[in-house]
Amino acid sequence: MGHRVTVWDDRLSAGELAALAPGRPEDLDRTPDVLIVGGGAIGLSAAVFCLRAGLGRVVLIERAERLAPGASSGNGGAIAPDMHLLTDGPEFVAFGRRSLELYRELDAEWGGAIGTWETRWLDIRPASTVPFGPQPASASSAAPLPGQSLSGTPLSRRPLRDGPPSDGPLLGGPLAGPRFPDGPLADRPLPGGPRAEPPFPDGPLAGPPFSDRPLPRGSSPDGPPSRRSLPEEPSPDELLRDRPPSEASRPPGPVPDGSHFDDPQPDRSQADGPRFDGPQRGGLWLLDAAAVRELEPDVVPPDGAIAVLAERQLAVNPLRLAAALAPRAGQVATGVAMLGVTMRGDRVAAVHTNVGDFSPGALILATGLVPAPWDVGVPQRWVKGHMLAVAPGPWRLGSVLAGPFGGGSPLPDGTIVCGGTFDEGDQTLDVYPEIADPMAAALATILPAAAGATISRRWCCFRPYIEGRQPVIDRLPGVSNGWFAGGHFTTGIMMAPATGAALAAWIGSGTAPPPVRSFTLPR
Ligand SMILES: Cc1cc2nc3c(=O)[nH]c(=O)nc-3n(C[C@H](O)[C@H](O)[C@H](O)COP(=O)(O)OP(=O)(O)OC[C@H]3O[C@@H](n4cnc5c(N)ncnc54)[C@H](O)[C@@H]3O)c2cc1C
Repeated sequence: MGHRVTVWDDRLSAGELAALAPGRPEDLDRTPDVLIVGGGAIGLSAAVFCLRAGLGRVVLIERAERLAPGASSGNGGAIAPDMHLLTDGPEFVAFGRRSLELYRELDAEWGGAIGTWETRWLDIRPASTVPFGPQPASASSAAPLPGQSLSGTPLSRRPLRDGPPSDGPLLGGPLAGPRFPDGPLADRPLPGGPRAEPPFPDGPLAGPPFSDRPLPRGSSPDGPPSRRSLPEEPSPDELLRDRPPSEASRPPGPVPDGSHFDDPQPDRSQADGPRFDGPQRGGLWLLDAAAVRELEPDVVPPDGAIAVLAERQLAVNPLRLAAALAPRAGQVATGVAMLGVTMRGDRVAAVHTNVGDFSPGALILATGLVPAPWDVGVPQRWVKGHMLAVAPGPWRLGSVLAGPFGGGSPLPDGTIVCGGTFDEGDQTLDVYPEIADPMAAALATILPAAAGATISRRWCCFRPYIEGRQPVIDRLPGVSNGWFAGGHFTTGIMMAPATGAALAAWIGSGTAPPPVRSFTLPR
């Protein structure tokens, strides 16, 4: 059975590929303490953290023949919570930062099995679209700080508070209101069709969704896919769509109080990073064009553009992540689909699958979107995105480039990953070069040496989007032993460990951890 090939597939060892397809163990535990449905990044992380929390025997089932068959292997692999200071609320950023910490901890504990690497981000954009001040210092005008080799102005000049918001039970600190009130997607009507269907081939066991099959039944309710090209002047929507590979989920909105996020003095050990000896506040810096050139000599910011710099972010090959989580996730079975449940009172008593029933102590649904019967009235849909990879070429690039002009994420071998697009209404599995390739052209507008570069891979996948707050980490309505974790939309890889940890803490304690109390299902 074929599946689409991403830039990540050909970077895995035979052992890692085998870990992604465990098949169906003969001694499948039918009465696990925790049953997890869905073998994407969220389900796998949930399983790992439930085991680590000592919640007992854990079983994960995935309907496809391979783990992470969809978005969890087709994404950009960005783990960059600091960039979300531009677009998201404090509790979201804090959750993302906690997740990034967990990535560091797990990868260290597992001897580098996840394979994260450090990144720094340059979000290059028209100065007028940076939703906060002050204006950047230029390399020549900035009063140099001792030892400073690059001009940068800390975004926040406010005094540090007593500590980062990650001091509390899981992440700490009260949650500050809705995270996603103003997003461009929040007010849009759902595309046609009564409810979102996963854009997967027919039937629960039809296998990985990116085979060469004909279109699934009921797909593409809105007609042919959009074939938008890059506009000359990006609209707010375009700012999002064309912001590779940050997967920025919102247009620039109100920026949280920078002081709220102040980190302790960051570790300056990043070998190839810029050198700042001055104070860094809020995790972000503004750079002018000259400073950008100093940092990235081959990058040419358009006239009037400035850059927002975030350091010490992470990236990962998401398929390697899945392969690292799987052997640490308890009993994992592929080719096993949940078909329905039987309730007894407020408890899920049985989970019905194509290989018989399970009677779990607790059930976690990590199916991307909310499945039946709990989906009624939930405004949710899959949002397709194209990605592409550019083969290594004659340029130097040490930073992830993002922003409305274009960008891409350099892999350690020099490949650059671009994406993704937001192809609303396209529920097909098809990859359209005319939609993907403008991302390579856009990259070349700020990295001219990449003009005409070879596109080595194109692919697409689908983000799970649930209107309202996101991600959604909540009890299933009316169910005492069932949870849902999904709707992570553009940030499921970034949020996976924190999501898993929050679920394990909730199941273990019976109480929702403060960081996720606003990530509720829209009701
Ligand atoms: C183009 C693109 C780029 C992205 N880039 C980034 C990025 O750089 N950084 C980032 O953090 N995020 C990124 N994302 C988002 C990220 O990929 C998703 O948020 C994340 O993968 C969602 O993970 P999940 O486990 O919730 O869902 P999925 O990966 O969809 O997994 C759900 C699983 O549940 C299984 N399932 C469903 N129903 C059943 C059933 N009944 N029985 C058994 N199994 C079932 C499915 O087969 C599937 O494998 C990107 C997404 C896209 C589309």
